[in-house]
Amino acid sequence: MPIRQLSETMINQIAAGEVIERPASVVKELVENALDAGASRVEIVTAGGGLNLIRVTDDGFGIPEQELALAIARHCTSKLADNIHDIRSLGFRGEALPSIGSVARLSIRSRTAAGDSAAEIGIEGGRMSAVKPAAANRGTTVEVRDLFFATPARLKFMKGERAESSATSNVVKRIAIAFPAVRFTLAGSDRSTLELPATTDSPEGRLARVAQVMGADFPANAIAIDAGREGVRLAGHISIPSFSRANALQQYAYVNGRPVRDKLIAGAIRGAFADVLPRDRHAVTVLFLTLDPGTVDVNVHPAKADVRFRDPGLVRGLIVGAIREALANASIRAATTGAAGMMAAFRPGAASYAHPGPANGHRSYDAAYRASGFTGFDRSAQRPLDMEGGGSGSGGFRENDQAAFDAGPLVSADARAGQDKAAETLLGTVLGAARAQVHENYIVAQTRDSLVIVDQHAAHERLVYEALKNALHSRAVPSQMLLLPEIVDLPEEDAERLAMHSETLARFGLGIERFGPGAVAVRETPSMLGETNVQQLVRDLADEIADNDTVETLKGRLDRIAATMACHGSVRSGRLLKAEEMNALLRQMEATPGSGTCNHGRPTYIELKLADIERLFGRR
Ligand code: ADP
Ligand code: MG
Repeated sequence: MPIRQLSETMINQIAAGEVIERPASVVKELVENALDAGASRVEIVTAGGGLNLIRVTDDGFGIPEQELALAIARHCTSKLADNIHDIRSLGFRGEALPSIGSVARLSIRSRTAAGDSAAEIGIEGGRMSAVKPAAANRGTTVEVRDLFFATPARLKFMKGERAESSATSNVVKRIAIAFPAVRFTLAGSDRSTLELPATTDSPEGRLARVAQVMGADFPANAIAIDAGREGVRLAGHISIPSFSRANALQQYAYVNGRPVRDKLIAGAIRGAFADVLPRDRHAVTVLFLTLDPGTVDVNVHPAKADVRFRDPGLVRGLIVGAIREALANASIRAATTGAAGMMAAFRPGAASYAHPGPANGHRSYDAAYRASGFTGFDRSAQRPLDMEGGGSGSGGFRENDQAAFDAGPLVSADARAGQDKAAETLLGTVLGAARAQVHENYIVAQTRDSLVIVDQHAAHERLVYEALKNALHSRAVPSQMLLLPEIVDLPEEDAERLAMHSETLARFGLGIERFGPGAVAVRETPSMLGETNVQQLVRDLADEIADNDTVETLKGRLDRIAATMACHGSVRSGRLLKAEEMNALLRQMEATPGSGTCNHGRPTYIELKLADIERLFGRR
């Protein structure tokens, strides 16, 4: 077959193959157009999972009648002047509408503020109709019917109406989070209506929008993030660790207002939470990165969900640093979900109420607690092991406190007489005055307006871990010489990258140097790692440096070892504590960053407000 120029319709259908993957992609493109047009209301209607009908109506600035034909022509856009490096709108490629028009029946009706009537144009499988007058308010309505009728092969890949319409909901929610001042509705025969009333473009407004999307319990379990470095700003919210999920679907990221799915951002979030969450739990996050459009490339893929940062290390460092700092500052904060689960379990009519008894009560509480997002209690690895030199410096758990845990009679709730004077001042602290230890593991404390229950094992484990980690990062990590240096063969670029980071690696106890072209020699490894697979470690590090320009892997591994050691070195449940010991533990928790959750992301304490307790007893 001779070489020939493809027809316009074929070209558009090829582009559609990438841009218009499924109904949700159409909705994404149309909603982006509405937002680019400055809309304050966006109404979406779908039927048949979006395959029969998608209609998006906005109150934006509209398209002038004489430009309607251009809007559906390929490579025609009003958003790009002459600099591909300065993109401030969601669209810029000028290919969404022609792509959709090549695989479906598309019509656009629009009216500008200046225009005294509306006009309409249609395109079906690439065939354009003439512009006609129409009746409409200011703004634009784009209607797409019979999606993929012109490319039946694509139709076969659709997953069923349910799946398609839930993908559409997700697209709308994702983008709505970035535009809190815009009202979104999603209706039609596919679903019960999704309604997101406009809030405001302020920190409170943004959080309110996030709550509309993620559920009303998010704000109470969220920590605000606001940080900046070298012209890059990071704002948004992260969940406290105990509010984690089993997958990362609830992690939303935006770059200059554009929803993105970015490996670097996801990796940074994982790294930042590595300390407080096990590998199979994921934080809920909404992060907005704002940076000079010239330092980020959004023209990576037609769907515009991928980005490349000019300085990935800077972005990663900012995210990890800001999240860690926020977690540290918010350390003393129990999961309200935990307390809410407890309230639910206690409420009259709950199983525990109908059949009083410790076993029942416990089970019911546990169920509610799990329902609130906690899973996987694993106490099997907890054996007593004497800790030595667990703490250095400030926030750590000092040895004399450690020793104090070893002896002392059980303190009953009655034994507090005489301590009341001292306790009076303690009532004003966050975790309050210790009153008793129950079931050999729970410290019951009292503040001015609440009852606090501390899981003594979890709390102590966290304190020991923080102390170990402090020691780990405040001085060079001890290393052990290998009898024979281990030679690791790598692609030359990887060897070069590792050599460039050799100083940092040495601080973490990994002694590495060039060994001719395409190889490195490892002479020392961190003692804490013990016997370790050097080859694997070095390769992982090389990958990580290539991806993110950091050496988190090594830090992360050392931190995880600290966590394991802490777990083994912690006060077992079952150890009886004296009042002073309990109070010492509470004060230490207040002073230690990260102590609100244990190393597995579970809360170390729960607070029940007096008001809630009174409500339980019907006093309010
Ligand atoms: P892009 O968004 O990349 O420019 P599209 O094919 O999505 O490309 O849209 C082409 C052009 O049509 C846009 O540049 C814009 O001028 C116009 N347009 C599309 N949808 C709307 C809308 N809802 N309101 C106003 N103008 C629109
Ligand atoms: Mg567009």
